[in-house]
Amino acid sequence: MQLLETRRDELASQPGLLAPDTSGMNFYRADPALADLLRIHLSEELFNHIEPHLDRLGELAGGYLDECARLADRHPPVLHQRDKFGRDAQYIEYHPAYRELERAAFGEFGIHALSARKGIMGWPDRYPVVAKHAFTFLFNQTEFGLGCPINVTDGCAKLLANFGNEQLKAKYLDGLTQTDMSRLTQGGQFMTEKEGGSDVGTLTTTAVQESDHWRLYGEKWFCSNADAKVVMLLARPEGAPSGTRGVGLFLMPRLLDDGSQNHYRIVRLKDKLGTRSMASGEIKLEGAIAYAVGKLDRGFVQMAEMVNSSRLSNGVKSTALMRRACHDAVTVAKNRVVFNSRIIDLPLGRRQLLKIMLATEQALSMSFLTADALDRAEAGSQDAAALLRILTPTLKFRATRDARKVCGDALEMRGGIGYVEEFATARLLRDAHLGSIWEGTGNIVALDALRRAVSRHGAESALAADLHARLDDSADVPQAWRDGLRGLVDRVVGFAREVAARSVNEAESRRATSLLYHVASAVQLAWEAQRIHARRGDARRLLLSRLVIDHRVVPSDPFRLAENGRQEKIASLLLSDCSAGMSEVGEWIAAA
Ligand SMILES: Cc1cc2nc3c(=O)[nH]c(=O)nc-3n(C[C@H](O)[C@H](O)[C@H](O)COP(=O)(O)OP(=O)(O)OC[C@H]3O[C@@H](n4cnc5c(N)ncnc54)[C@H](O)[C@@H]3O)c2cc1C
Repeated sequence: MQLLETRRDELASQPGLLAPDTSGMNFYRADPALADLLRIHLSEELFNHIEPHLDRLGELAGGYLDECARLADRHPPVLHQRDKFGRDAQYIEYHPAYRELERAAFGEFGIHALSARKGIMGWPDRYPVVAKHAFTFLFNQTEFGLGCPINVTDGCAKLLANFGNEQLKAKYLDGLTQTDMSRLTQGGQFMTEKEGGSDVGTLTTTAVQESDHWRLYGEKWFCSNADAKVVMLLARPEGAPSGTRGVGLFLMPRLLDDGSQNHYRIVRLKDKLGTRSMASGEIKLEGAIAYAVGKLDRGFVQMAEMVNSSRLSNGVKSTALMRRACHDAVTVAKNRVVFNSRIIDLPLGRRQLLKIMLATEQALSMSFLTADALDRAEAGSQDAAALLRILTPTLKFRATRDARKVCGDALEMRGGIGYVEEFATARLLRDAHLGSIWEGTGNIVALDALRRAVSRHGAESALAADLHARLDDSADVPQAWRDGLRGLVDRVVGFAREVAARSVNEAESRRATSLLYHVASAVQLAWEAQRIHARRGDARRLLLSRLVIDHRVVPSDPFRLAENGRQEKIASLLLSDCSAGMSEVGEWIAAA
């Protein structure tokens, strides 16, 4: 059912002099790589089950929901302090277009609950994380703002399920995982205070025990989904030690049992660069009633679980922004004629497209590799848990940073009009800058990869073992390329260890994290190529594997001309709709 009359641009397919945009594109059908990777990671039965739903979301995301997202961005939420009767009952007013986006994400597809609740979209079980993030990926190509509430609602349910007592679960879990919009209670996650978002141990919110519950006093500085009905937050119980060890995890409901608002106020909403459709607020806790979740002195560690699944989600969402930007750039390049040529037929245009495409495909591969590791870790694999520990910050670091550049480059591909808000490119660029800030800035996640994953847990060994096993398992990939990748896996793991071993090397953490990402993605792309080739005879992801190493790992001599013939051939293979077999691709892979 379509509740909102949105303006559809009937002229989009006949744009006159300007290139069309992605209006009317089905984002699922336009993305054969997505289906390829899902077929690799999911059982055939599950893939066949979700495909019609992905197809529907792909169509909505390229059409109706995209127009809703544009409207919701143009009409941000408004905070009201009183109701119409003059009572001090705060509420946030959202544009109907945002409500439509909510209805699709939470109600129709239940993205927030796919891994938590059985039976959604007719599947008898919970969905693996890989399947869930296929929906995240499609939805966020059109709407990134609501991506946060979807994810934190999911995360709240997970925290509650893992650490909450039976009473709390009985009261709040059903609402957090509901797809019936009248019973849904969305979640929030409030950690950041003025003292520090990165340095969470400095937080000053205090929790005072009062019979079976606690009262919270203090301020939270960044609260996305500010009017969420169920909030997970960190606070320091009175008398607890300083630092992260003294921090407890609490569940704070928006409404009390008598229906009145809990004792906290949304002081104002942030006027943000991106995610303008979604309300991020500042909150004053004035004796708010809350309940302890799990062990009081394990609050930070427990919350870290939610942060880690949010970091994966962030990686997927940044990949979605890149894919949308990529679709837009290709659409422009195929249609815009400059100097009597289509942009896609010009050498520099093709090079620009390849750069956009390369970062996007890397991120897609790394997103599903990481989601798959999470699925396997949750099924009990210790190796996968170690792998996940290093892949999560690595993905979050690089994919969110690449999204900034890719969205900027795609904007430029459209020329000046790409900078104008009537086209989605401007919104994509604004949104893209957030991915690398929330859930840990670039420095923080790079340090997490090096200090925590490598230095403390030795997780790089699990990564090396996994990547070597993937290369063993890719016998159709030319031997020389596999050997080259093996050498790079060993070198990058050695480098990460070296960086992590001494604090004097800390400034190299970002470089090491990027290299881990690039080498892992090159191996994964080769591994995928073998599988896709076996199924439908297309080995072109192997070309991407080579390009990652050539352009993002191995430094080139800036004064040496590129081998134009080879570059051109690779570009034409990758930018066409054809497929290419292993032998054809191997020729370009093996070249020195
Ligand atoms: C739109 C938006 C929505 C948000 N929503 C939420 C939310 O719902 N809940 C929530 O809890 N938070 C939320 N945040 C907050 C976000 O998570 C923090 O802004 C982020 O973690 C950074 O914290 P900070 O702003 O305090 O910056 P700081 O921690 O002060 O960091 C400032 C700079 O210092 C750098 N830095 C910090 N430590 C180191 C180090 N050891 N080495 C080198 N450099 C370092 C950082 O990289 C950064 O560049 C949101 C933020 C935004 C922008």
